[in-house]
Amino acid sequence: MTSSLVDLYREISLCRDCELAEGRNKVVPGDGAENAKIMFIGEAPGFHEDQQGRPFVGSAGHFLDELLNSIGLDRRKVYICNVVKCRPPGNRDPLPKEIDACRKWLDRQIEIISPKIIVTLGRHSMAKFFHGSSISKIHGTSQEIDGRVCFAMYHPAAALHQQSLRKTIEADILKLPGILAQSEDVKQPDPEPKQLSMF
Ligand code: SF4
Repeated sequence: MTSSLVDLYREISLCRDCELAEGRNKVVPGDGAENAKIMFIGEAPGFHEDQQGRPFVGSAGHFLDELLNSIGLDRRKVYICNVVKCRPPGNRDPLPKEIDACRKWLDRQIEIISPKIIVTLGRHSMAKFFHGSSISKIHGTSQEIDGRVCFAMYHPAAALHQQSLRKTIEADILKLPGILAQSEDVKQPDPEPKQLSMF
């Protein structure tokens, strides 16, 4: 099988542009459909992701699957990735210099998939799109940024650490189908009216 994404995954798997390459077991580039309309961007691979080379396969991933099911979405129809593609030691937050080094891969994924909606999961991916915002203020809201609709959510892992956030996250994802429908309703501008011939 060959596709732009598979070619990109090959390049990412060879990347050693930051220190996270030292401790990784597997690179975790991303997972999902190349023509996905919705792209979810989390923070970084954890233990299970690093073992399997796939994003969101641990407890937070199972909760994400539940959230997708709650709005009738199949994981195979969306695209899921992280801001950094290698596991930070001890599951610490990715450092700004690691996010910077990995930015090129995320940018190319966005370019190839060209999703209608980007859902940011957690504050690190939120910071890429919603500059200077706080997740507690903007979760569950969307904005058009650089010609794409961006929707901010808490990271699913937040619900595992803080049970009270579970209901918030479950309520936020219910807004996604409406936002998708709206983004698909945006009409293309009419072509220039043709000059009518007099003859
Ligand atoms: S985290 Fe990103 S930049 Fe760092 S080594 Fe892995 S793929 Fe390369």
